Amino acid sequence: DPQPRPLSQMAPEELVALRDRQRSAHGDLVAEGLSLDVTRGKPSAAQLDLSDALLRLPSSTRDRSGTDVRNYGGLQGLAELREIFAELLGVQPDQLAAGGNSSLTMMRDCLVDLLLFGGVDSPRPWSQEESLTFVCPVPGYDRHFALLEELGIGMVTVPMTPDGPDAEAVAALVKDDPSIKGMWIVPTYANPTGSVCTQEVAARLAAMETAAPDFKIFWDNAYAVHHLTEDEAKSADILSLAAAAGNPHRPLTFASTSKITYAGAGVAFLGCSTDQVAWYLAHLGKGSIGPDKVNQLRHVELFGDAAGVRAHMARHREIIAPKFAEVDRVLSERLGGYEVASWNSPAGGYFVSLDVLPGTASRVVALAKEAGLALTPAGASFPYGQDPEDTNIRLAPTMPPVEEVTAAMETVATCVLLAAAEQLTK
Ligand code: PLP
Repeated sequence: DPQPRPLSQMAPEELVALRDRQRSAHGDLVAEGLSLDVTRGKPSAAQLDLSDALLRLPSSTRDRSGTDVRNYGGLQGLAELREIFAELLGVQPDQLAAGGNSSLTMMRDCLVDLLLFGGVDSPRPWSQEESLTFVCPVPGYDRHFALLEELGIGMVTVPMTPDGPDAEAVAALVKDDPSIKGMWIVPTYANPTGSVCTQEVAARLAAMETAAPDFKIFWDNAYAVHHLTEDEAKSADILSLAAAAGNPHRPLTFASTSKITYAGAGVAFLGCSTDQVAWYLAHLGKGSIGPDKVNQLRHVELFGDAAGVRAHMARHREIIAPKFAEVDRVLSERLGGYEVASWNSPAGGYFVSLDVLPGTASRVVALAKEAGLALTPAGASFPYGQDPEDTNIRLAPTMPPVEEVTAAMETVATCVLLAAAEQLTK
């Protein structure tokens, strides 16, 4: 290819020539019959292997207090596991419940309990309100949006910034509208933008005036310890900030070991005011006599302490950081200079957020599919699957081997350029 330059500066005949070159490159990819997939934010088998000692644990059947973990009971989860994760999540052990394998299930439990019963600070169950709305920073996590949609909770969007959600936009929305009951946030290494919520943004969200007396921040810290560099971001201390601002029950925080140990057999955590832990457990207790303490104990034995978790995460980083570096390398080499796309180089988490020329994201995904590359559907990172600008694509490079990440990004680059050139020659 000739020296790349911005498509916006190209003459019509240059654009046509570029389009035709990319069309031919795309044809070659189609003919190759590739089978690639960067849709899944899952750990690779090599990452799962890091935790295989779990298969031979626990070595004991008793927890620290001497309780037989094989039996019923202990609804809040093992104290020694809560201590390890309280340190990592910056909460007190009594502010934490350790449950089953999925934090998403805990988020759903909390929403359903709020709807049916109301929270500790609710005037009435949420289901008795005329309408309910959540603030959704976008792009965001598709399952958060799907959960609200299924429960009949409306969504209003605010932009994500490199420092977290646009806090002033959130504050303006929640100030006068009592139907706005909550918001999502992935504070550390957001899905998919990788941004980290600063202490300032967190403080604003913790202290802002809300028309609803029982406004909840669903603080989904799924990637709290999932660093891709040695510069380990520390999550803002939302529980302390909210308590200091007189809103101790505002945050409900979530995390899990899904991408620390086994995605399908880890442990999930809920962290919040002790009153809300009691509220959650009171409702949970009607449907459970206790969590899987055998799994919780084997996690305690695997890690030993918080430092053990950090060391374990460093081994994950060794496996996946090269894949993220490869995404950045190929996209930079292939797309640099054309000014048709921008993307982030996340310092942690599981995703890269790619913004292509507005109006072309769906076309890029369709072209990639023809070339044997599965991309997350355009719009997936927005409520109702609708990206108003048709510009955002979520890339998930952890699961495929690095050679496949290279091939996938080569394909992405060709499709992004082709779709942009098509659009500008229409
Ligand atoms: N929250 C976020 C932001 C995620 O990206 C994911 C998985 O991709 C989850 C939650 C799922 O968590 P869990 O496995 O604990 O249910």
